[in-house]
Amino acid sequence: MLVICLLLPASSLRAQLTNPLIPIPVEMVTGKGAFPISRETAIAADAALHGEAALLREQLTAVTGYPLPLVSARNTGKAIRMQLNTSNEAALGKEGYRLNITPAGVIIRANTPAGIFYGVQSLLQLLPPAIEKRQLMQQALTLPAVSVTDYPRFGWRGLMLDDSRHFFSKSFVKKYIDQMAKYKFNVFHWHLTDDPGWRLAIQKYPQLTEIGAWRVPRTGRWGTYSGPVPGERATDGGFYSAEDIREVVQYAAARHVTIVPEIDVPGHSGALIAAFPEVSCKHEHHPTYPGSSEGPGDNVLCAGEEKSFVLLDSILGEVASLFPGTYLHIGGDEVDKSFWKQCPKCQRRMKQEGLKDEHELQSYFIKRVSRIVERYGKKLIGWDEILEGGLAPGAAVMSWRGPEGGIAAGKAGHAVVMTPLQFCYLDYLQTDWHIEQIGGNHLTLTDTYRFEPVPEEVDPAYILGGQGNLWTEFIASPGRAEYMTWPRAFALAEVLWSPKKERVLPDFLSRVEKHFVRLSDAGVNYAPAIYDPQVRTEKNATGAVNLVLFTEAPDLELYYTFEGVRPDRYALKYTGTPVAIPAGASDVKVVTYRNGKQMGRVLSINIKELH
Ligand SMILES: [Zn+2]
Repeated sequence: MLVICLLLPASSLRAQLTNPLIPIPVEMVTGKGAFPISRETAIAADAALHGEAALLREQLTAVTGYPLPLVSARNTGKAIRMQLNTSNEAALGKEGYRLNITPAGVIIRANTPAGIFYGVQSLLQLLPPAIEKRQLMQQALTLPAVSVTDYPRFGWRGLMLDDSRHFFSKSFVKKYIDQMAKYKFNVFHWHLTDDPGWRLAIQKYPQLTEIGAWRVPRTGRWGTYSGPVPGERATDGGFYSAEDIREVVQYAAARHVTIVPEIDVPGHSGALIAAFPEVSCKHEHHPTYPGSSEGPGDNVLCAGEEKSFVLLDSILGEVASLFPGTYLHIGGDEVDKSFWKQCPKCQRRMKQEGLKDEHELQSYFIKRVSRIVERYGKKLIGWDEILEGGLAPGAAVMSWRGPEGGIAAGKAGHAVVMTPLQFCYLDYLQTDWHIEQIGGNHLTLTDTYRFEPVPEEVDPAYILGGQGNLWTEFIASPGRAEYMTWPRAFALAEVLWSPKKERVLPDFLSRVEKHFVRLSDAGVNYAPAIYDPQVRTEKNATGAVNLVLFTEAPDLELYYTFEGVRPDRYALKYTGTPVAIPAGASDVKVVTYRNGKQMGRVLSINIKELH
């Protein structure tokens, strides 16, 4: 971190530190003075921008207490103006904007309503964080004079929510989308089906939600629960009606967020098979998987059974009609091919079609689904396993097991969305396991910020963008879903929107701290992991193990104890020199402070784990 600071010319660092925006814009020049928002300020916009103007008006009215008049773009009074370019400005593309604030007025210009919307989001981030409370503010609002030119690096800037492992209410999903849009994300990937729950009502097959949306209630750690007992009622779960979906789609569209629905097949289909056992290879009746230790059982659709495709045709037809976006995600990941190996129907299909192994059977399955998807006017996207055995032309790949799938897909001429788990899995721990005590892998904010979506081996033209994936095995509540999303989604927002050369970690971290206030004021939970103490070991010249203490956020004091007591700012202070572990110490406990205030949580590690 320090090294990066030193390498930068001081002037450029200073200039950036004054920029409060996340994601950082392509260019922002600070002007003189400010534009005061008052009762005389109007919002002037063409009819085509009515939605964008209304959202801004609603937000400002909540904090000023007076409604700003909406007037026509021709009105010449003091105003926040929104103007669509009459001739396309190529540099701005489909989502870019120019925001000009002077004491005389505010103008947002763009080629499209989406660009105007993003200009508005930047404008709102120039106002005090307290506007996020949406309550009357005593303080008058002023916008600092700036000139911003901005456009995204990628067209696919996504977050995925796994709604199957745990069900989230419609109002939470809307809040999640609203929060995404403030940071210029434009794709909400909705993982609607999996073994533990089918969340979308399908008119033709009500059993899918009557059975598949509900499982027996269990609490504790996912994957360790007991299975259903015979006769036990499945009361835990929920689903969205077609009406709910239309409402969420419309809500997202108003915020320029496209929803990509995922129907995960042929694996991860346990909830579908709970409703229709006849489309599995084993035809076993089993209830919807509740996260028990014995696993989901036969959760793979039979590729030799015609009814699998008949069912999927109707399901995908309804899904296509509910979601107006281009892409339909069909999963395709982690198919347990042992079921196909032992299934006479699957084996017969392989013989008939001349398929040499189960990978080619998977390819056969995905190609058939891809034809269905295309018939409904959509493009298919799936997890990187869909490449195995060959992929239909025109299908897009979401690379999750690392960048390799994306590289292979890009080289084969497929469009790619990069979501490698090393950078993009938001269910991974943000801080030391000893603090969270749940979950496994580790992915700090800094790790996420280092994500580079374009691998060197691939023509960048094939990389649509990237996204963060929030799997919810260990996320049972809305508050926890937000906690795991933020602030790492700040890092992804910036990776996916901002020019690579504008990404500077210390500057980003300083902006993240300011945006924590905005999250708090918006009532959005976040992880304070950047303030948590971290520890690593190093051996000194004599081979003894020393402890190095550090944090992600700068300017924190670290205090530690070896005698088992909870540390505070009167404990031993870490000076930057690695600390020798005293003989007889049983554990080390570390805490962080800034200006006399505790900032991070207490890290406590048994010394035995550090040798
Ligand atoms: Zn089969």
